Amino acid sequence: FYSLSQIPFDNSYARLPEHFYHKVKPAPLPNGQLVSSNSELAQQIGLDPCSINPQQLADLMTGQTEFSGATPLAMKYAGHQFGQYNPDLGDGRGLLIGESCFQDENGIEKRYDWHLKGAGKTRYSRMGDGRAVLRSSIREYLVSEAMHGLNIATTRALALTVSSQRAHRERYELCATVLRISECHIRFGHFEHFYYQRRYDDLRELADYCIRRYFPEIISDTAAEDSLKAKHYWQFFQNIFHRTIKLVAQWQAYGFVHGVLNTDNISILGESFDYGPFEFMDNWQNNRIPNHSDHEGRYSFANQPGIMQWNLSCLAQALIPLLVDDENSTAEKDADESIDIEIINQLLSSYPEYFQQTWLDLMAKRLGLTSAPKALCDDLLQLLERLEIDGCRFFYKLSHLPLNVEQFDINSLDLPSVWRNDNGFAHWFEQYWNCLKAEVHSSEIDTSRLSKMQTVNPKYILRNYMLQEAIEAAENGDYNPVNDLLRLVKKPFAHSPLANDSDFIRFAASPPEWARDIELSCSS
Ligand code: AMP
Ligand code: MG
Ligand code: MG
Repeated sequence: FYSLSQIPFDNSYARLPEHFYHKVKPAPLPNGQLVSSNSELAQQIGLDPCSINPQQLADLMTGQTEFSGATPLAMKYAGHQFGQYNPDLGDGRGLLIGESCFQDENGIEKRYDWHLKGAGKTRYSRMGDGRAVLRSSIREYLVSEAMHGLNIATTRALALTVSSQRAHRERYELCATVLRISECHIRFGHFEHFYYQRRYDDLRELADYCIRRYFPEIISDTAAEDSLKAKHYWQFFQNIFHRTIKLVAQWQAYGFVHGVLNTDNISILGESFDYGPFEFMDNWQNNRIPNHSDHEGRYSFANQPGIMQWNLSCLAQALIPLLVDDENSTAEKDADESIDIEIINQLLSSYPEYFQQTWLDLMAKRLGLTSAPKALCDDLLQLLERLEIDGCRFFYKLSHLPLNVEQFDINSLDLPSVWRNDNGFAHWFEQYWNCLKAEVHSSEIDTSRLSKMQTVNPKYILRNYMLQEAIEAAENGDYNPVNDLLRLVKKPFAHSPLANDSDFIRFAASPPEWARDIELSCSS
């Protein structure tokens, strides 16, 4: 374990050409106070949690002191925002502080980006103030741990700090910083930047960096000094393609809406990234749009899979110079090493089928089935929406409901009467029971079905109203609710995971009425 004052920084991104970024130090914020830190994550990245002195960490995170050995920089990227290409993006309020690099107990090198969000203005801030407010920082801090708790790939957050300075959003709000930890801060938009500038050598250098750092298995057949070939870039893209599909299938299976799926917010590692106006839906609605500034609903719940396919096609487009031989190129190349554009299109067209299978597999697990017919899942979503059923509570209930596989009788089941008395629901349940009956042959097996279901159907989910309560408390100087929620979302599945479950049990209940009125925007 290393300590906070001796983080073993080794900043490989800073060794890339200087026009890939711009070096800038965090701009100090006054009166920094630590709101929360995540000791489990600290341990995981090799940082001794006992070495975390709260004031020392707050001073580092508010730019009052410097991380020793770090080379803070703002990364340059571009991206498609709401479908429009914007060349002027980049880290406008977050800095890559450095990469910690240490060997774990098995001698394997672990390298993590330390990214400070809310660190002040950079060359890419455009009209922005370079700050993040407490509200959005609490949301990012907690949801990344909630995603991790659900076994969905995500960036994490090591700590959250608040300052006495305010910034104007919809109102004046306290400034805060989040220390985001991930192996990767490279977005689809990084590649688009070099592609649209026609800087193909830089494009290649960036791709080589990513392959060597994140996908070394792709080049296990290649000597260190050899240059990479089209087939390597193609494997790189295929890898991203599959990770991205897995991620969006998980979002759809857990009722998560990201809110702003611009290509500058999409990680090449398939992690949930750059949280803003996101939501874990209470009542599942296909057309749910959590972001009030998304007037056309481009990033609605139902649109997410299609949007991620579109985003992948933007990335494929940006990689074309590395994948496909340029006929006009004078360089001698082995023609059959180039990837045919048809092959690229074929892979992109296989997206819907591959997505659907991945999603159905996840839905089957949630339903306790070996395989789930598409109609059963589609009908369920319609039912949840029509009856305004809470998704999390529905699956939780189902995973605690012993069924008699010998005989179907919905009236004998302990179900809310609004569900049971609805003809559509009764019909769906009978279909479900038929699927089960085909798979399950004795009630003994049904018990193991339930225990398996309980490992994928959480008791708790990080609902917007829970975040809202913790935000209001923190704005009034009480950080306990943030820290309580951190403990809660780390263990969403267990029956009684928390020392004093009675404090938490209300979070397993239906959300309060006022939860419907919560409004989120891009500054959330
Ligand atoms: P987002 O919508 O949060 O993904 O941000 C899109 C772009 O705007 C990114 O390049 C951000 O760095 C930048 N940005 C967002 N908020 C601010 C801010 N308060 N100050 C400066 N830049 C910002
Ligand atoms: Mg962003
Ligand atoms: Mg953002």
